[in-house]
Amino acid sequence: MARFSVLNLARNAISEHRNWAAQWRAPELKTDYDIILVGAGGHGLATAWHLARVYGLTNIAVLEAGWLGGGNIARNTVTIRSNYMRDESIPFYVKSVALFDRLTKDLNFNTMHSKRGMVDVLQTWGMVRDRRRRRLTMDLHGARYRPLSVPDLRRMVPKLTGGGPDARLPILGAEFHPDAAVNRHDAVAWGYARAIDAMGVEIHQNTPVTAITRGADGAVTGVETPRGFVRAGKVALAVSGHTTTLSETAGLRLPLRTINLSAFVSEPLQPCIDVVVNCPDLGVYLSQSDKGELVIGGATDLGQSFRRDVKQHVFEDTVAAMLDLFPSFRRVKLLRQWGGHLDIAHDASPIISTTDVPGLFVSAGWWGGYKAIPAGGLCLAHLLATGSPHPLATPFGLGRFRHLEYVLEAGTTTAR
Ligand SMILES: Cc1cc2nc3c(=O)[nH]c(=O)nc-3n(C[C@H](O)[C@H](O)[C@H](O)COP(=O)(O)OP(=O)(O)OC[C@H]3O[C@@H](n4cnc5c(N)ncnc54)[C@H](O)[C@@H]3O)c2cc1C
Repeated sequence: MARFSVLNLARNAISEHRNWAAQWRAPELKTDYDIILVGAGGHGLATAWHLARVYGLTNIAVLEAGWLGGGNIARNTVTIRSNYMRDESIPFYVKSVALFDRLTKDLNFNTMHSKRGMVDVLQTWGMVRDRRRRRLTMDLHGARYRPLSVPDLRRMVPKLTGGGPDARLPILGAEFHPDAAVNRHDAVAWGYARAIDAMGVEIHQNTPVTAITRGADGAVTGVETPRGFVRAGKVALAVSGHTTTLSETAGLRLPLRTINLSAFVSEPLQPCIDVVVNCPDLGVYLSQSDKGELVIGGATDLGQSFRRDVKQHVFEDTVAAMLDLFPSFRRVKLLRQWGGHLDIAHDASPIISTTDVPGLFVSAGWWGGYKAIPAGGLCLAHLLATGSPHPLATPFGLGRFRHLEYVLEAGTTTAR
């Protein structure tokens, strides 16, 4: 794999970019691997990267139903943060944010990382108390969160002119999370793909897994695909939104529900917002992309759904909430809207775990799981390679549902 460097870029610019080699191979599908990772989204690819880089395991196939990086990683609003609530969650996300910060160097691929911080706009006393409590807990784990007065908030986000004293929900205060960042989701997927391919891991696109197969002893033997049966002693599911559909083919029911989450982007505007703005009481958050588009997300619709479009009532609620706080955006045109389907566990925390089916592993429950990709990959790789949970992921095993040891998190940026 040619390394990207200033020299390399200049050389290819001079030859009008005609001489770039393919960034990853399209190898023949073998019949046997040590490990099959199902899903070439962020978590599947990051897991392969840690397996190859840290543990030297490369006889691995990443099987992807569509094209790599075309699932929820392509649909998300790229907010990376660690302002969680529980002692179990915060260290995991602190690690993930730190791994994201150095990902461009680690992958030798420009992820367009922008560490711009996130401000939480607080409009109810309940939310003020919740975020103050988060701040105190986060402080114990090295995640930064600091209170902002309303005038400081308005100086930081001049476009935020709504929420005055006469508003239905006046702004009471804010918390600023300087560790938060955004980056480019395609680059993250492509960077991992390029790096794992160079280490010998195989990526097979257009290869949906239709069933997980088990032997007479109940252990996993491999997977069925339209391209034939593929054998492996270890199979890990990283198929965000589709986990239950697949696990049920192995007779395994998981405590997950699939829900719809949607987002929209506006036409490009001149630079006007340089932080991520999150308004948990109203259920809207937004940032401005490098192209100038406002990237806007709403709250989840908690009804079970496999839809990948936008639910109209969520769209209307989100836009109304945004205009409450940013009335000057009322003439802005929205260009695109889309949804994704995520699986959520009862306690809204992730599952990185072995299962009751020997050889079957699962990484799921990622409803705000973009920010978790580097640490999720690290922890699933550790589990696959060593058989024991990574210390950061010990609280996120399936056993917690048996022993009622929930890690209760309202895990989205919009806190619903
Ligand atoms: C609108 C929206 C906004 C979001 N915003 C944020 C945010 O700001 N911050 C944040 O942290 N998170 C956010 N998320 C959540 C985040 O996108 C997901 O939690 C995360 O991408 C899930 O992990 P993944 O990348 O591995 O999933 P995916 O990219 O969905 O990867 C799973 C892959 O598995 C493949 N697959 C499925 N079934 C099969 C099968 N049978 N065989 C083979 N392959 C299969 C899929 O095609 C897919 O490519 C958002 C999600 C949505 C929908």
